Amino acid sequence: MLWIPGPTEVRPEILAEFARPTIGHRSPAMGELIERLDPGLRLAFGLEAGSDSHVAAHTTTASGLMETALFGVGPKVLSLVIGAFSKRFAQIAEILGKDVTKLEVPMGQVVTPEMLSQALDENGPFDAVTVVWNETSTGTSNPIPALAEVLRAHPDTRLLVDVVSWIAGAPIDLDQHRIDFAFAGVQKALALPPGIAVCGVSDRYLEGARKLERRTWYHDPVMVVEGHADRKTPMTPAIPHYTGLAKQLEDISNGVTLPEAERGKSGVDAWNARFAKHARMQASTAAWAAGHGLSLLPSPEFASPTVSCIQVGDLDVGALVKGLKARDLEISNGYGDLKGKTFRIGHMGDHTEDGLNALLQAADEVLAS
Ligand SMILES: *Cc1c(COP(=O)(O)O)cnc(C)c1O
Repeated sequence: MLWIPGPTEVRPEILAEFARPTIGHRSPAMGELIERLDPGLRLAFGLEAGSDSHVAAHTTTASGLMETALFGVGPKVLSLVIGAFSKRFAQIAEILGKDVTKLEVPMGQVVTPEMLSQALDENGPFDAVTVVWNETSTGTSNPIPALAEVLRAHPDTRLLVDVVSWIAGAPIDLDQHRIDFAFAGVQKALALPPGIAVCGVSDRYLEGARKLERRTWYHDPVMVVEGHADRKTPMTPAIPHYTGLAKQLEDISNGVTLPEAERGKSGVDAWNARFAKHARMQASTAAWAAGHGLSLLPSPEFASPTVSCIQVGDLDVGALVKGLKARDLEISNGYGDLKGKTFRIGHMGDHTEDGLNALLQAADEVLAS
C-alpha cells in the first residue's frame, strides 16, 4: 500500500472506471463526460455558484500545467522557492525565457507576507508570481491567503499557484484567495493514477492570456480552458482518466470517501469533511513522530496537512523504509538533498484513519525490532 507523497493509493472502484470501453473523443458521449467533471472541479477549487472563474482538465502532468500557467503571463516573473517543486516552477519559467527573480528560503521554511511585500517593492512590478501551496518535498505549506493579501496592492500581477498535493486535501477558495491560475495533477490527494491535470483559472488571467502572442500549441492556456468549455479538446484526451476523475469527483461530492459516520454529507459539506479527515491524519502523524522524539521539518503552523516530512534524528531511515516495505507498506525517504535527513509519509487521498493507525503501528513494530 502506498503511503508515499504521490502517486497515492487508488480505490478499486476508481481503477474499474479505467476499464470501460473506449468512446470516440468527438462523440456526444465525450462531451457529456467532460461536462460531468465541472460540478466536482468547481467544488475542488472552492468556486461559488456564479463565479466567473473557469475550470479545465488537460492531458498532461502538473509540470505540464506549470508551462501552461506561464504561457499566459508577461515576461517578468517572481518565483517563490521553498523546495524542489517550487524550484522546478522557477526553472521552467527560466527555460520559457521569462525574466525570473527568485525569492528563496531554506527548505522547511515558508515565504512570509513581509518577504513577498519587500520583493515586490524592491524588484517589481512583476507580471506574475509563481508559488507552490504545499511543497511536497519538505512537507511545508506556504501561507497562501496571507501572500494573496499582499498581492491585492498589485492588481496587474497574476498569481500562479501549484496546488498539486493540496487540492482535495485542504480548502482552497480560488476567488477569495485571488488566485489566477491554480493547477494540480490528479495522483496526489485526488487519489487517481497519474496522467491528467486540472486547473482553476480567473477570468482576468484568461483575458490577459488572449492578448498575448501565442507561443505554444499544446500548452496554450486559452486552448486548454476554451477546449474544455466547448466540451471538445483539440487533441485526443486520456479518456479513461476523464472517466476515473468524473467518478472520483462525484464520489467525493457525495461523501462516498468519508469515514462511515459522515457518509450522509454531500456538496461543500462533504469536501470540508474530507479536509477535516486530512487534518486529523496530519495531527496523528505528528503525534506519532513526537512520541518517538522526532520533529517535523517545518514549524507546526506550516506543517502540510497531506504529507509529513519528519527529521530522522538517530533513527535508521533506510531500515524503517525497508522494514515497512517488507510488510507491503511504502513510505518515502527524503527528497533530493533531504534524503537520509528526513522521511515522508503521505497521508492523503482516500486513505482512512484506521489505515493510518495500522501504518504507524507497523512502523512502531519495525522500530522496536
Ligand atoms: C508531485 C508534484 C508535482 C509534479 O507533478 P507531475 O505530475 O509529476 O508533473 C509538482 N508540484 C508538487 C507540489 C507536487 O507534489
